Amino acid sequence: MLSFKCRDVGFDCDYIVKADKDSEIIEKVMEHGKKDHNLNKEDFTPSLVELIRGKMQAVE
Ligand SMILES: [Zn+2]
Repeated sequence: MLSFKCRDVGFDCDYIVKADKDSEIIEKVMEHGKKDHNLNKEDFTPSLVELIRGKMQAVE
């Protein structure tokens, strides 16, 4: 399983997401970004998505 912390990409935020696949994490992070950080789909540029992927950690 993978986990991702919103804080790791610079937000002052305690949101953590866990999922089996990186694509599921990206999906959940996009929902979270929209809801809590007023980000649009367009704000998730390929470079931001790459950054998020790079910050994912393997967890039990
Ligand atoms: Zn957040």
